[in-house]
Amino acid sequence: MKMEHEYDIAIIGGGPVGMFATFYAGLRSADVLLLESTPQLGGQPAALYPQKQIYDVAGFFAVRADELTSKLDQQMARFKPDVQLNTKVTAITPDATGVTLTTDAQNYRAKSVIVATGAGAFEPRPLAAPHDKTLVNDKIFYIAPDLNTFARQDVVIAGGGDSAIDWALALEPIAKSVRLIHRRNQFRGLESSVTALENSTVELLTPYLIKEVSETATGLSLSLRPVRDAEPQTITADKLLVSYGFASDNRQLRNWGLQLEHGQIKVDASYATNLDHVYAIGDAVTYPGKQKLIASGFGEAPTAVSSIMSAIHPELRQNLHSSELKL
Ligand SMILES: Cc1cc2nc3c(=O)[nH]c(=O)nc-3n(C[C@H](O)[C@H](O)[C@H](O)COP(=O)(O)OP(=O)(O)OC[C@H]3O[C@@H](n4cnc5c(N)ncnc54)[C@H](O)[C@@H]3O)c2cc1C
Repeated sequence: MKMEHEYDIAIIGGGPVGMFATFYAGLRSADVLLLESTPQLGGQPAALYPQKQIYDVAGFFAVRADELTSKLDQQMARFKPDVQLNTKVTAITPDATGVTLTTDAQNYRAKSVIVATGAGAFEPRPLAAPHDKTLVNDKIFYIAPDLNTFARQDVVIAGGGDSAIDWALALEPIAKSVRLIHRRNQFRGLESSVTALENSTVELLTPYLIKEVSETATGLSLSLRPVRDAEPQTITADKLLVSYGFASDNRQLRNWGLQLEHGQIKVDASYATNLDHVYAIGDAVTYPGKQKLIASGFGEAPTAVSSIMSAIHPELRQNLHSSELKL
């Protein structure tokens, strides 16, 4: 989208709260842009605990975190919002009529902004072993956006947590072979996933650390250093998927001119911040009694969106009940 285009609302952060706010903005007929720094939507539930059950989202007896993400995605897609992944907002500059958002890709313009950056921008924990960085997204991956990339390939996965195990089990039927390298003999996953792993054809290489990764004519060569009681090894693979988890960092907010309290954005009852046209919701904010819960963030989104819509489109009548709409 060209810089000249001005969205009604730009939402920074595609966690559960930013996703629901994007849906709600669509419901209110806003021209909405969602910017997410990682290649995937879903925030903490998708990145940190995709396989865990969540028991305190209204209307669900229990919902697995990755299912909640895909339901939010489905709900949000109804109004065809402009969603930009791999786009980290680095600065917001409000002026008299709106806000310019600077990202690591391009600049955007919006009448209003909702900051829903939660725990901060997630970055995959990088492979520490020496490797050629140009191989990332070619032969070395941190996230597998399309499992077919690994079809009929010899795949090595590095990591020992839930997502490493999930990748291994998901790729087992697709890849030619799957090996899982972990520095401990025990895996830190759901018991049922660990059992499925032990019963699978995935070859477990433990306790090993990757010492170096180099490119070969046909793929990759990985030298493995034993953590204890094993011989060093060199293995080859077509693709390496590094699954060491994610780190998040919300220190970025300090440079945005937002009023903070203990690193969280201070907001008023309509979730307005100290900056003109800038609102904030979800785990990123603080106010008396704030709970860092998905349910709280879901409640904050309609208030912020409706405050913005009343300000920028006072002529639009608010229909408070979605059940009265013809969708
Ligand atoms: C292990 C664990 C279990 C939990 N269990 C529960 C539970 O059972 N029930 C419950 O209600 N809550 C639970 N929580 C808390 C819940 O996950 C959070 O309250 C919720 O994720 C907050 O959503 P959010 O959208 O505000 O932020 P986040 O989920 O943190 O999402 C923020 C998003 O913004 C993106 N972002 C950040 N900065 C930028 C930037 N500059 N540019 C672009 N994108 C950016 C991030 O990459 C991320 O995707 C749990 C948390 C953890 C860690």
